[in-house]
Amino acid sequence: MLKSINPVNGKTVKTFEAHSEKGVEKIINSVDKTWHSWRLSTFQYRSRLMKSLSDLLISKKEELAFLMAQEMGKVKKEGIAEIEKCAWVCDYYAKNAESFLESETIETEYQKSFVSYQPLGIILAVMPWNFPFWQVFRFAAPSLMAGNTAVLKHASNVPGCAMAIEELFREAGFPENVFRTLLIGSKQVENVIRHPAVKAVSLTGSTPAGKSVAAIAGSELKKCVLELGGSDPYLILKDADLEYAARKCAAGRLLNAGQSCIGAKRFIVVEDIYAHFLEHFTQEMNNARFGDPSDPEVTMGPLARIDLRDELHKQVTDSVAKGAEIILGGEIPLLKGAFYPPTILENVKPGMPAYDKELFGPVASVIKVKDETEAIKVANDTVFGLGAAVFTNDDVKGEIIAEKKLQAGCCFVNDFVKSDPRLPFGGIKESGFGRELSDSGIKEFTNIKTVVVK
Ligand code: NAP
Repeated sequence: MLKSINPVNGKTVKTFEAHSEKGVEKIINSVDKTWHSWRLSTFQYRSRLMKSLSDLLISKKEELAFLMAQEMGKVKKEGIAEIEKCAWVCDYYAKNAESFLESETIETEYQKSFVSYQPLGIILAVMPWNFPFWQVFRFAAPSLMAGNTAVLKHASNVPGCAMAIEELFREAGFPENVFRTLLIGSKQVENVIRHPAVKAVSLTGSTPAGKSVAAIAGSELKKCVLELGGSDPYLILKDADLEYAARKCAAGRLLNAGQSCIGAKRFIVVEDIYAHFLEHFTQEMNNARFGDPSDPEVTMGPLARIDLRDELHKQVTDSVAKGAEIILGGEIPLLKGAFYPPTILENVKPGMPAYDKELFGPVASVIKVKDETEAIKVANDTVFGLGAAVFTNDDVKGEIIAEKKLQAGCCFVNDFVKSDPRLPFGGIKESGFGRELSDSGIKEFTNIKTVVVK
């Protein structure tokens, strides 16, 4: 049994019967059978369906945003923006998939030699709850356009979103069983990965989940793409526009109530401008209004679950016990739901959860450094490598730091890190491997096939 629980009040919204082992087997076999015809369909046909899916998403954005608010607490404005982004990724691949996957001729001594991008079969997607639509669509749009079929194992707390996504594909006119949802817990994922018809797996989630899935996929020699956690550093250099930087840093930290893999997490500030930055940053963080996500005045909803809120608070109190200081928030409010206030910790040092771990909520770790060189050293002093940003008025210097000095998959200058269908997205180190989005993403789940004619 899977349950949707409203994090605002702890009430069960709906329950869902989990799929039995036999049910899962039946779905996988049907999706495999469909793959044999889907893989032969034309790009024009798949594009038409993707475009109608995009239109459908737009027409339903209000109700889908409401569903997210109910299951995981996302505020309405952010929910609508998420659905619009899903429509964008569908349009993007409807338009570009064919050219991305066009065969490439290579001149050799043979009569003909070329590279062809062929689909693999069923791809399993194991997805998180934090962007319950976007994470799925950014995987599904390129994978399906490439001629694969897909099964989704969504996070256990968003079964309503999982079923709504399956229904969207159906309603948009996709053949039955091109995309199906499996209502299963994480323990059943192993059997799905090991199923002979499942050819690869894409996981977005925590590093422990990634390691477990990668180990199983590895033992079966099946490809995987892993989009995992992060502890993204934001460098505030001496010559930065501090008011602007503070605004962007707070927005990057509070987006989705701080529950974003590429959320700004560690703010590394050079000492000359530390006090000045902190003043602006505190003001910006303090401006957030948290409460019921359906209230249009509210800018930040609750966290997705009470246990996640409690885990975050423990990371805060453990950091304080080791010497960090709370300068904003840091206390569980007297409200029924999974709420946590915007929080700032300073004097954050190695050995504290706020320095070493991912804080998945609206908590900013502020670290004072002597200069730019130390800022870069601290930024890279992490097991993660997903995103990073640098704020400076010197664009050339910013670009050099972003390109050559920061160890992460997505580095931005003077803005917070965002995913974009046109740009590759992914991490290094314990943030995972492989890329989603752009032309890199669509090729991940293809057989890059060499064809030679003598
Ligand atoms: P999670 O606990 O790792 O869960 C993610 C998904 O993996 C869920 O469907 C979960 O199923 C499943 N799962 C968990 N443990 C598993 C295991 N041992 N074997 C197989 N499947 C397993 O992560 P979350 O709490 O939902 O999401 C937050 C994490 O995701 C954060 O660390 C965040 O940084 C990361 N994230 C990364 C990106 C990125 O693009 N890099 C994007 C978003 C989020 P159940 O729900 O049934 O446990």
